[in-house]
Amino acid sequence: MIFRIIAFLSLVILISCKKHNIEIKLALKKDTIILTKANKDTVPHNFIATQFDFPVGKPNAKGYYNAQKFTKNYHLGDDWNAVTGGNTDLGDPVYAIANGFIKESKDYGGGWGNVIRILHFLPNNKIVESLYAHCDTIITVKDSWIKKGTKIGTIGTANGAYYAHLHFEIREDITLPLGPGYSENTKGYLDPTEFIKNHRTIEDER
Ligand SMILES: [Zn+2]
Repeated sequence: MIFRIIAFLSLVILISCKKHNIEIKLALKKDTIILTKANKDTVPHNFIATQFDFPVGKPNAKGYYNAQKFTKNYHLGDDWNAVTGGNTDLGDPVYAIANGFIKESKDYGGGWGNVIRILHFLPNNKIVESLYAHCDTIITVKDSWIKKGTKIGTIGTANGAYYAHLHFEIREDITLPLGPGYSENTKGYLDPTEFIKNHRTIEDER
């Protein structure tokens, strides 16, 4: 009898896990209204984003500097470069800034090149997106969960368009399209460095 109960409970847990994954997948592909359903109860507990770090020079962007800060020249992100300059950072690792879900990882071509986009589910039910562009290589699988600090790709030149650097954005509006990279209108975008500094550790109240 006890084995039957265990088997039944296992089945219930398995089904509910599957259901949660499906809900999130659906949520990511639909509009904002459905996205709000992806709250922290539908996210695997160990993938809630409770800590953030910079996307290069783990930990704390060691050996890197922000060459073009958010809003400078209407820039919608930060540009991370190695202090050693030029293309010396070509092929250096790019890391997931927090636990999250890989929403997209593909070559968008043009001035963007390889781009990785990750959704981060915060303990307060907010969701933010981090975007890593011009990558030389991508080593992530779309639609999968990822842990903070995991290597997701390498720093690149967007197929020779620039000196190697990481163009890095954080968005509070996760429904925005890929975007222009530069704009006077910063609606939906956050200052990435400020955000990371203010979210080093977040209390998970559960
Ligand atoms: Zn940039």
